Amino acid sequence: MRLPREEELVRLPTSSVLHYLPGRTPLGWPVRRTGQGSPQGLRGTLAVAVQLPSGWTRTLLPAWQREPGAPDLPFFGYTAAFFRQGELWCAAVQTEDNPRWNPELYATRDLPRRIRALRRKHPANRLLGQLEVCAREYGCYNAQNIFYGRWEGAAPVSPSCNACCQGCISSQPEEAPPSPQMRLAFVPTLEEIVEVGLEHLNHPEALYSFGQGCEGEPLLQAPLLARAIRALRERTPKGTLHLNTNGSLPQAAREVIQAGLDSMRISLNSAISDHYRAYYQPRTYDFEDVLETIRIARGHGVWVSLNLLMVPGVNDAQDEVEALIRLLNDLDVNMVQMRNLNMDPDLFFQGIPASQAPILGVPEMLRRLRAGAPRTRLGSHNPAVRS
Ligand code: SF4
Repeated sequence: MRLPREEELVRLPTSSVLHYLPGRTPLGWPVRRTGQGSPQGLRGTLAVAVQLPSGWTRTLLPAWQREPGAPDLPFFGYTAAFFRQGELWCAAVQTEDNPRWNPELYATRDLPRRIRALRRKHPANRLLGQLEVCAREYGCYNAQNIFYGRWEGAAPVSPSCNACCQGCISSQPEEAPPSPQMRLAFVPTLEEIVEVGLEHLNHPEALYSFGQGCEGEPLLQAPLLARAIRALRERTPKGTLHLNTNGSLPQAAREVIQAGLDSMRISLNSAISDHYRAYYQPRTYDFEDVLETIRIARGHGVWVSLNLLMVPGVNDAQDEVEALIRLLNDLDVNMVQMRNLNMDPDLFFQGIPASQAPILGVPEMLRRLRAGAPRTRLGSHNPAVRS
């Protein structure tokens, strides 16, 4: 634990959410001896953390002392927060200022009416039924965008996965905190996928996005995805056909890419294979397969982003940053999207070894990424690569 640096701090961004942390005592120093010696438990105070809106990357984790019997925390991106001169501040930097992800544009009063209208138009479409649940119950922005008819719209297709991520948001073991979303329970038909796709791709700068939080690994449905992409491209040249994936199956990825995929985002917690395996716990593939998928995608001119699962004190370790810069340059990756990993840090560190390398701090990490991989864009969201 250390004191924050000024460049790591910001007034609380609009639409941040405060979380009370049960069974935890905040750690800190008495004002007169700030930073001297070990921090103490601040008895009689409540431990809180912030969940940041999209586009903000946390720079520090909250510091707490876990009391006996304290519950594990649900899957959120806990960020250090504190009062300063009567205002709430937190440890974050802005990585993308994208008005399309403004929370005020979601869950608006007209959403239920829009959901009813599209469901009435396609009453037998189970994919729309799933997206209604995702929009109403999970608050998923990409699912809502299908009903709003704009931007990135969700198209989940896979009930199963070939990895076992520590922080999976759609499937967790009995003893863990419940996953924020229930895993999709069926494989939609070609007709269902195409029906929703044709509705969505008609909108300006639309992305039709396979691989969502409520499903497993979409590449496990590659033959269906390839048929759907071909069928959509036979009917419309519009919009971006996008895939969020763990990148585990290079040949399946080739099939989907050759069918007409425009962009791909591959989730990654580390460019160091052992650290990757410790988090993803891959069942039927390995880290080299993920790299091969990126090579194939870039070889076909597909826009490739990394969805970098961020934990301060881990990703900003010097060895992690150097390995990431090598990967970005060697594989000509187009973009890195910073994603605060939504997980109880105590649970995370139970499964992931702490780095022995110097910890640079997130602002320094971002500076080195910009300097070391100048061709790679830094941001937080999937861009439309085709209008
Ligand atoms: S790859 Fe995705 S669906 Fe599979 S375990 Fe990881 S987070 Fe869950």
